[in-house]
Parts: sequence; structure tokens; C-alpha cells
Amino acid sequence: MEEAKEKGVFNEEKACLVVKELRKSFDSGKTRSYKWRISQLEAMAKMIEEREKDIIEAVDKDLSKPQLEAYIAEVSQTKSSCSEAIKALHQWMKPTKVKTAITTYPSSAEIVSEPLGVVLIISTWNFPFLLSLDPVIGAIAAGNAVVLKPSEVAPASSALLADMLTKYLDNSAVRVIEGGAPQTTALLEQKWDKILYTGNARVGRIVMAAATKHLTPVILELGGKCPALVDSNLNLQVAARRLIAGKWACNNGQACISVDYIITLKHFAPTLINALKEELEQFFGKDPMKSKDMSRIVSSSHFSRLLKLLNDDKISDKIVLEGQKDEDQLKIAPTIILDAPDDSLVMQEEIFGPIMPIITVDKIEDGFDIIKSKPKPLAAYLFTNNEDLKKSFVENISSGGMLINDTVLQVVTPGLPFGGVGESGMGSYHGKFSFDEFSHKKGVLYRSFKGDSSMRYPPYTPKKQSLVKALINGNIFHMILILIGCSKL
Ligand code: NAD
Repeated sequence: MEEAKEKGVFNEEKACLVVKELRKSFDSGKTRSYKWRISQLEAMAKMIEEREKDIIEAVDKDLSKPQLEAYIAEVSQTKSSCSEAIKALHQWMKPTKVKTAITTYPSSAEIVSEPLGVVLIISTWNFPFLLSLDPVIGAIAAGNAVVLKPSEVAPASSALLADMLTKYLDNSAVRVIEGGAPQTTALLEQKWDKILYTGNARVGRIVMAAATKHLTPVILELGGKCPALVDSNLNLQVAARRLIAGKWACNNGQACISVDYIITLKHFAPTLINALKEELEQFFGKDPMKSKDMSRIVSSSHFSRLLKLLNDDKISDKIVLEGQKDEDQLKIAPTIILDAPDDSLVMQEEIFGPIMPIITVDKIEDGFDIIKSKPKPLAAYLFTNNEDLKKSFVENISSGGMLINDTVLQVVTPGLPFGGVGESGMGSYHGKFSFDEFSHKKGVLYRSFKGDSSMRYPPYTPKKQSLVKALINGNIFHMILILIGCSKL
């Protein structure tokens, strides 16, 4: 530990110090005030505005993310999250009045949202700004002190986040700790009041196990295989474009809510594949490797992981659109696989890249069984004009979120929660949901010294017992009879 300290390595000792300092700030009460929260949210909005160019450059370095995709997801969405919190904060912080029961008359009651304390946010690399700053906005809005640990897999973004948050925000209550597994492990050893983790389920389990030690609640934003069930009763061109928008034009498939695989009707699959090929060419040209409108694969280890999925013998004769691969540039062009067997790697793991398996079924409803046979996904999509099918999909398929006749846009819809269910995670955030996740909902009952009935105090006479029972059961008539001595006790 001494050696690590000398080298300036972030270890458990340093993690403990950071938490101590932030707890001191939290305990001083400064983060609770509306004034502090709003000042930090405004500073964050200013930061995103002023550093927009740096943000876009950082995601270009880390992922070659196309400028427009970077602007929409990393800048604009984070900005609107911030302005929503600024606009609504006063309202969110107001206690909610609750009706009281006759048994506590006279009284009033309310739910008070109080900050939890010092919270940890562990983020990932695919939308490094949005997925780091959006939870931080929620944590600050709710009045907490925060430590953000961005992903080491997107190093330019991680460094920029550390630089920006140090310059723009109050460092006595908001900190960024950079690093990978060892640094996160050091942080996880500490006692937090809540942990929000975004990433894969394997590390999700590590986070949850660490949190158990201190009984710390967790929000796990995980992933999984998000299906798109595609009926033949639809507008083919629009459906094909939107499927592409939810896969290759969405960080090249490296998104938790991107379409992982398609299920469609056997007779319709060739038509759908042709439409996808046509629209892909419209979007990315004849040589997609030269397109500037497609992100690269984030790292060589993720590149090798995707190659392993493609080199699986089980799909060698199933590739209907074979994308080029360039290891030097870390690029893989759109690849489509028809009827990959269920035990092939592409159907067993979350793909998180530009490979799209298409599974065929005889009846569209058979697609439900395929989706249900896998862990509950973070998102499920359906394309159809059939109203009964839409209804049945919403009623029968369990997923974090759902979108009919489009992809990905559920995440930018204000008022909708974002989060998983089952293996795709627990808890949800965005807007007011973030505020609520980072608050404790404290129930408060107010009474005066009036109305002090002896009914609730010993000695518990038979008359009192009958009165209390009548009161609890709401039987006012019986109560009156007891009081005037006309009812048997
Ligand atoms: P990652 O490799 O960046 O890991 C996520 C975080 O965990 C990082 O901060 C990393 O430092 C930390 N970490 C890694 N190993 C650790 C260990 N052994 N102990 C403690 N901490 C550790 O990201 P990833 O896991 O490759 O992210 C991709 C996954 O995240 C996919 O499954 C995707 O679906 C999911 N995801 C979910 C959401 C969502 O909002 N639900 C968003 C994006 C990605």
C-alpha cells in the first residue's frame, strides 16, 4: 500500500479519504439547499455548452463516433436532461401532500424527498458523456455528494470528464476518479449511500456483492439481447431504415438498446434482407468501410470478441451480408446472418457490435416464445400495423422499455423511465425518475396536541376495544351506539 501511495496510485486508502471529504461536505448540509443544487446544475449546463467541441473530439478519438451522433446523444441529450432538472427542481423538491386516516384525526401528512448522502456512479464507454453525466445530474438534483468513475475503455472521454467536472463543479462535493477495475474495486470497498452502475452483468454482480457488505442500495443499468420482432404487415422502407438507425447508425451497434437480433416470418425474410441491404447502401455507400458515418469498434479486445462471434462454425454458411473487417482501423462493416442456430455464439451472447442475426418463424406469435426463452431484455421492438399484435406484445413481453414501429427513441422521450428488468438491470432513471432514485422518500405525519383520545391508551376496557374496532372498520353508526350505551360491548 505504501508503494502504491508513493506512485500516486488510487487505492483503498485514497478512496477512503475521498469519501470522508465528501461526507464532511454532505454533513455540512450545503448540498441540500436549492441554491447549491441549482448552481451545480447551471454550471453543468454551462460546461456542456462551452465544451461541446471537446466532447465531440473526445468521442471521435475513443470511437470515431460520427459528429451528428455525438452531438445528439452526448451533447444535446445531456443538455436537455440538465435543463429539465433546472426547470423542474423546485417542483421536485416540494413535499407531496398525502390524505390522512380518520384514526389519526386531526393530522396532516406528506412525503419529503431527502438526499441519500454520498453516492457512487460507475459508468461505461459507449456513450461516455451521456451515461456519466445524466446520473450525476440526478444525484446532484436530489442533493447528494457524488463520485463519478468513468470507463477506462474510453480514455479521452474519461480524461475530459475529469478535467471538466474539476473545473466547473464544486469539488468539495463532486469528484471524478479515473481508472479501471483496481480503482473501482478500491471505491467499492467504501460505504456509499447508493451506487449506480452501468455496464455488463458480470461486473454488475461484483458491484452488487460489494454493496451488500454495507447494505447499500444499487441501480444496475445492464444490457442483454434486445429483439426486434418484424411482421410483414408494415411499411417496409420505413421499417428497414429505422432498424438500421437502431443498429449500425447507433454507435455501430455498440449501444445497450440497439437491436441485437431480428425475428421475422420465414416467407418475408428475403424481402426484409433486400430492403436492409438497399437502405444500408443508401446510408453508408457501396463501401461502408470508407463511411464517416459509422463508429469504429471501441478497442482491439472488443474487435477480437466480435471476430470470435463471426468465426463460429455454427454460422459459417449463414452469412447473407458479409461485412469487411479491418483490424488496424478497428472497423467491421454491417453483417447479416440468416437463421443462426440458437446455440451459436451470436444468439447466446449480447452482440454489442455491427452483426445482425435474423431468426425466422412460421407464425409471428412464435417470435414471442423466442424472446421469452431468453433473459428479459433492456428494450424490445415490434414493427407491425396489426393492432392486436401490438396489444399482445405490450401485454406479454417483459422488457426494460418498449417501442412499437421504431427503435431507440424511447430513451429520448421525456417522462419515460429508463432501466432494465431481470437480467437487464434494476432501478430506472432519467428526469424525475433520477431525482426519485437518488432521494429517500420520507413519510412524515404531523399531529397537534388536540384530539388526544384516551381510547388508544390502557387500560384497554371492553368499551374501548369495541370503539377502536368500530373506528378501524369505519363503522361510525356502531361507534355512536356504543357511545350512547345502546350497543352490546
Ligand atoms: P466497461 O468495460 O466500461 O465496464 C463498466 C465499468 O465497470 C467501467 O467503469 C469499468 O472500469 C468497471 N469495471 C470493469 N471491470 C471491473 C471489475 N472487475 N470490478 C469493478 N469494476 C469493473 O463497460 P462494458 O461492461 O463493456 O459495457 C458494455 C455493457 O454495458 C453491455 O452489456 C451494455 O449493454 C451495457 N450498457 C448498459 C447501459 C444501460 O444504460 N443499461 C448503457 C450502456 C451499456
